Amino acid sequence: MMEKTYLPIIGLEIHVELKTKSKMFCQDSADYFGKPPNTLTCPVCLGMPGALPTPNKKAIEWTILIGQALKCQINRLSKFDRKHYFYPDLPKGYQISQYDQPIAIKGYFNLNGKKIRIKRVHLEEDTAKLIHDGKNTLIDFNRAGVPLVEIVTEPDFNSSDDVKKFLEELQVIIRYLDVSDADMEKGSMRLEPNISIKTKAEELPKYKVEVKNINSFRFVKQAIDFEIKRQTEILKENKIPNQETRGFDEKKGKTYPQRKKEEAHDYRYFPEPDIPPLVFFDEYLKKIEKMMPELPEDKIKKYVEELGLKYQDAYIITRNKNLSAYFEEVYAKYFEKTKKLEEKVKNVGQSLANLIINRKVETNLPVEDFISKAIEILSPKKTDIKAVDRAVEKVILANSKAVADYKSGKINALMFLIGQVMREMKGKAEAKIVGERISLVLGRR
Ligand code: MN
Repeated sequence: MMEKTYLPIIGLEIHVELKTKSKMFCQDSADYFGKPPNTLTCPVCLGMPGALPTPNKKAIEWTILIGQALKCQINRLSKFDRKHYFYPDLPKGYQISQYDQPIAIKGYFNLNGKKIRIKRVHLEEDTAKLIHDGKNTLIDFNRAGVPLVEIVTEPDFNSSDDVKKFLEELQVIIRYLDVSDADMEKGSMRLEPNISIKTKAEELPKYKVEVKNINSFRFVKQAIDFEIKRQTEILKENKIPNQETRGFDEKKGKTYPQRKKEEAHDYRYFPEPDIPPLVFFDEYLKKIEKMMPELPEDKIKKYVEELGLKYQDAYIITRNKNLSAYFEEVYAKYFEKTKKLEEKVKNVGQSLANLIINRKVETNLPVEDFISKAIEILSPKKTDIKAVDRAVEKVILANSKAVADYKSGKINALMFLIGQVMREMKGKAEAKIVGERISLVLGRR
C-alpha cells in the first residue's frame, strides 16, 4: 500500500492584554503586574450581585485599531455576550466576551507572500489569576477584568516555523500600535495553537486539538512539533486522535491531555443584557484609523525604495519601533548637519544603517552625538600622498614575502599590503589611493 501524505493544519488564538489605565468594565487600575494580590478590585470585577459593567472606551478603540492593522472589516454593529463556564478564576460564573458580532472580522496578514487570514478580533475581560502553591490554590483578582483582545486566525499554517514567524510579526505590530506590552513572560501575550492533521486527499481534518496558554514562541514551536508527531503516529495506526484541549509541559517539551474540548453551545452564550450594543459610525472609525502609526511592513518598503537600504537591514531596524524612529531621526538630521557632505558619501541610508547594526556607534547616544560620530567615520578622508608614499616604502621593505607574492600575481598580497599601510596611516587614508600608490611603486596594476 502506498504511504499516505499527511498535512498539518494549524490555527492560532492569541490573547493580548491591553495596557489601558483602567480595567474593561470598572475603574480599577489595569496595571496589575507586581501589585500585592487582591488590591485592585471592586464589586464589578469581583462579580458582586447588582454591580453593573461600564465598557472602557479606550479598550474598544484599541481593539478597532488592532483590527484595522490586520486589515479586518470592522463590524458597524457589535455587542458583548456572556460566555458561561464554572471555574474559580471567574467570579461571575461567566466571562463578558463577544460571540457572533465581534468588533473585527475577515482580515489578513501577508507572511512572506503567504496570506494568513484573520478570522476575528474580539474584546473580552481577563480572568483572575490562580496560583497553585503545591498545597492550596490561591486566587488573585487583580487581573480579573483587565481588557483582553483575542485574535483568531484561520487554520492557514502548515508548519511550526511559519507560526513562529507570524507570532513574531504580530508582536512587533502590537508594540508599534502601543496598545500592549505583548510581553509573554508577564503574560500580556498568550498563545493557543490548534493543530490537526489531514491526509492530502481529505478536505478537512476530522478532529481538532487545542494546546492552552503557551508563554513563549519557542514553546509554541515545540508544542506544535510534538503534536504533529503524536497525531501522525495515531493516524498511521488508522485511528483518529481525540478532540481535546491539552496543556504543555515546558520541562518535558510534551503536551498532555487536559479535558475534552468544549463546543460553543456548552458555553450558553447570550447577549450581555447590562451593556447596550456598540454602533460604530464611519467618521469614528476614520478617526481611529488616523491614529495608526506607520507599520513595519511600510517602513521596510520605504527604507528599501527611498533610503536605499538592503532588505535584511531594513528588516532588522524595523523590528523595534524606537530603533527605527532613532534611525529616521539620524537620517533626517544627518543631511541638515552635513549640508554638501552627503554628495561625497555614497548611500547615506545604508551607511548609517551599517553603523547602527554593526554597533559602530551606540544608539543610546543623543541623536546629535551619533551624527557627529557618524560624520567622523563616514566623511571621505583627505589623503596625504607624501605620508602614504613614506608608509608604502616602509611596508614594502618590511614585507618582502608579500611583495614577492604580489609580483607573482596574488591579489591577496595587495590586500595585505594595503592593510599594513592603512595601519601605518592609522586609518587616515583612502584604501583606493593606497592601492594605487603601492601598484605604482611595485610597477603593476
Ligand atoms: Mn478568549
